[in-house]
Amino acid sequence: MTSKKKLNIQSFFKPQKVDNIQNNTDSVVSASDTDIPTSSTSHINRHDIFNYVKRVLTQNEIHDILNAIWIPDVNYNFPVKVFFVGKDKTARYLKFQYKWFARFPWLVYSEIDNGAYCKFCVAFSTNYAGINDQKLELLVTKKYDNWRHALEYFKNHSQLEYHKKYKQIDIGRKKEIIQNRKNIIPVIEAIILCGRQNMALRGHRDFGNIFKACSDDKQNNDGNFRAILRYRAQGDSDMRSYLESSGTIKYTSSTSQNEIIDSCNKLLLNKIVSRVNEAKCFTVLADETANVSGIEQISLCVRYIELSTLELHEDFLQFVPAVDMTGKGLAKLIIDNL
Ligand SMILES: [Zn+2]
Repeated sequence: MTSKKKLNIQSFFKPQKVDNIQNNTDSVVSASDTDIPTSSTSHINRHDIFNYVKRVLTQNEIHDILNAIWIPDVNYNFPVKVFFVGKDKTARYLKFQYKWFARFPWLVYSEIDNGAYCKFCVAFSTNYAGINDQKLELLVTKKYDNWRHALEYFKNHSQLEYHKKYKQIDIGRKKEIIQNRKNIIPVIEAIILCGRQNMALRGHRDFGNIFKACSDDKQNNDGNFRAILRYRAQGDSDMRSYLESSGTIKYTSSTSQNEIIDSCNKLLLNKIVSRVNEAKCFTVLADETANVSGIEQISLCVRYIELSTLELHEDFLQFVPAVDMTGKGLAKLIIDNL
């Protein structure tokens, strides 16, 4: 066994690398990070509100603005701006006040742009028309940084029609998200049940309204997954009304099933990898068989001791299609897929 092979196999069991976005962020930060006075530098560029201003946003970006936008920490040194006031032009040195965040929950600060924005208005204004001809400007499409009159301006902004409308949209979205999460739980549980009991999910004509199928008809049996959902809906009126509702998104399609199975796979794999990391040493088990399509499939398993219980585990990791069945080809396949 060469040291190169050991490195390849073990690298799979190390903690997952930070995603590409994080790497990209680091490279962007390097240009200006010398004057960043906060410890949250790794999030600044990607989640700074200025990155979302005056753009048509995706649903994911709107979600980021509302839930993951960068907020300075309490010790952040906001830059000072000089204002010359009065007839004698006396210099006043003012800066953004951290306490404003508590008073105006919609308020966010851009380090890139050195100014304040409203997260509701930035999130929704580009995708929705303005309201009552109120012009979208400061705090929405341009920063606000006139700290002399900030409090008064923020209070007025809270009362604007379009701001109230966008705030309501956010409240509606939050309710919808909570309800969708509630709705999908029985669907996930049905898939996990099928997995644990080794039952196939799919059946004949397993699409469309879940209550229109007749599960007693063997010719049209639409499978275990939909039968379990129907059975559960008998004692769950919320779930029944959700499945019977006119909306098209029910998370019961084969695509949704596969996405949920993939998510379960990732969670289980992470759990196994973390146990193997703790165990330090492990054995790889590989076996091969042809599936119904005649494609050779290698099953990869890992054998290790769980340190907390001192129990021996043999856990399945994944199936990998094999093309080259030579010893060299199989060795390469194992190393590549671990
Ligand atoms: Zn607003």
